[in-house]
Amino acid sequence: MGFVFRLEDYPRYLERVGEATYLDVTRRTDPARVVKVWDNLQAVVESYGAPWVVQLWTKDAAGALGHGERILEGLRDAGTTIVAHVTVTGLGGTPWEPLAPSTPFQGVEDLISLAGGADHIKWRYDPVIPTVHRLDTFRRLAEQAAGLGITRCVLNFLVPPGRYKRVDARLSGSLPGWSKGMPGYDAAWRAQTAAELVEAAGELGISVAACAESSDLLDRVDGLQSAACGEHAWFVALSGRDPGRARTSGSRKGCGCAAYFDVGMYGQWRNCHQCLYCYAG
Ligand code: SF4
Repeated sequence: MGFVFRLEDYPRYLERVGEATYLDVTRRTDPARVVKVWDNLQAVVESYGAPWVVQLWTKDAAGALGHGERILEGLRDAGTTIVAHVTVTGLGGTPWEPLAPSTPFQGVEDLISLAGGADHIKWRYDPVIPTVHRLDTFRRLAEQAAGLGITRCVLNFLVPPGRYKRVDARLSGSLPGWSKGMPGYDAAWRAQTAAELVEAAGELGISVAACAESSDLLDRVDGLQSAACGEHAWFVALSGRDPGRARTSGSRKGCGCAAYFDVGMYGQWRNCHQCLYCYAG
């Protein structure tokens, strides 16, 4: 799979997955800000028909609907199951996520009614940033999510220093200790933090799952579930049909994602929310 959307890659994807067509909009940028991804989705649909699943990824449900509501409604009416990962960290409008909405979960109610229920939505608390994350902020957000009927949260920790040079350069100016390897930001801290989040969310009826990146925590944190960001079983349950599952190696080690086709492109940081921690830009 490449780093940019190319319609000509779709037939190869189709050969691999058969009827289990699942499109991500998108893991590579935010469809609330980069409108081109909707044209890409439209191009796939016009050439190859409505897919089994469309999964939206956004920090701004209202913004995403502003651009994509019509196409999503058309797909839903054609039988596509619409699901979404809505990322809300409580940092929208701050220097961490300067162009993301400062009002949490804005537009999510409309997205829920478009998709057909709150069970179509996962709340991502991603990334958990050492020294910036606050349990009371998480609790407040969890209350709002629960009020919307959301019962699933996916958490992901900030990628540690040393992996992405460009991100390290940005973060070293804002996170004291980052360039020294962020002492204290270790497995024990992550496990303790995850346990607190599982407990706080659980009190509100929200389950918490960790992405492959944090799979080392699964054995250490009671109640923490394993997340697949493209969750085949979830798609089957919501759509009421199982078109089978193509073999895939996933995005990274331990990743349980179903084989997906992404209509986005990397390199859009300036056009996107300009998050300080972004490594997709
Ligand atoms: S700037 Fe990066 S981290 Fe922020 S929403 Fe866009 S792709 Fe995601």
